[in-house]
Amino acid sequence: MTPDSLICTRLTRRFGKRLAVDSVSLTLAPGRITALLGPSGCGKSTLLRMIAGLEPLDGGEIRSGDALIASPAEALPPERRRIGLVFQDHALFPHLSVRDNVAFGLAGRPRAERHEIAARWLTRVGLGDRGRDWPHQLSGGQQQRVALARALAPAPRAVLLDEPFSSLDAHLRGEVRQDIAVALREAGAAALVVTHDARDAMLMADDLILMDQGQVLQAGSPEACYARPASLDAARLLGDIEVLSGERRDGRVETPLGRFDAPGPDGPCRLMFRPEALTLDPEGVEARVTALAYGGATSEARLQAGEAGATLVAAPGRLAVGETVRVRLDPAAVLPLD
Ligand code: ADP
Ligand code: MG
Repeated sequence: MTPDSLICTRLTRRFGKRLAVDSVSLTLAPGRITALLGPSGCGKSTLLRMIAGLEPLDGGEIRSGDALIASPAEALPPERRRIGLVFQDHALFPHLSVRDNVAFGLAGRPRAERHEIAARWLTRVGLGDRGRDWPHQLSGGQQQRVALARALAPAPRAVLLDEPFSSLDAHLRGEVRQDIAVALREAGAAALVVTHDARDAMLMADDLILMDQGQVLQAGSPEACYARPASLDAARLLGDIEVLSGERRDGRVETPLGRFDAPGPDGPCRLMFRPEALTLDPEGVEARVTALAYGGATSEARLQAGEAGATLVAAPGRLAVGETVRVRLDPAAVLPLD
């Protein structure tokens, strides 16, 4: 029998007049990683705390199978929800060994069994030989993996991770991100990873939820959210976006970067596209390079074509300020905004 999903429906939380979480619905399914992405202060941690039972619900409900986990009227206490938590700052118990940290949530089972389960989880996160160490003897990334092992050891119905990489150095981040994703997939737990980093979110997520000001802007696969944003705000959460203005006639929009299909009434119309949709092309339209910035693997050139400005990402050393180039905007990557 596969375990039940955790189904959160129209979760709402107010602080005074402010709606910190505004009718958010999401489903955490076993074996799937859901990433919740949004700017600082948009309500991510509050939502996670509501699911964990650390924050009451002002509206909505949380269910798993036939069981009601929480509603404004009734709520299981956190320790009875079978939900594991991993925070940004590891939060290991400093006075317990690494092994005892992982075994902490297994109280009530025989000692030998607790140690055996803890050892198994430490091996899964690549720390099988560190069980006797103290937390302070491990690096930040290793401590974060211990925190994950501790959260997963009691076989929770879901595990919630709040900004698990933000306290790690850039060079450790990628490695820990991969290790955590692998361990979550092996565990088969339903996972919710909260982050304000678009790259972390897209690299980890099966399901992505974009959030701003307490509300869900868009939910879907990372590919769908990136390529077909539901709004300009949703688009901006995942990366740079260009907006192009033009005039629509008979479902076609005329712009300085070409003509594009965009069904709708005649009149002014805005289009959006990602910078990588614009490429150098000898058959393309003319544009002038007005500024150039070196960014290592790529350079970013600011272009002006008629009334339209746009950024071109190109190989370094190919372009010069003041030069005229020809560019093509991929019609398949252009989306109408209005
Ligand atoms: P995030 O994790 O996305 O940065 P939070 O969930 O921590 O955002 O906060 C969302 C909003 O709710 C913020 O405006 C924050 O100031 C407010 N908030 C969070 N917790 C409380 C609280 N206990 N009392 C009052 N306001 C709060
Ligand atoms: Mg937060």
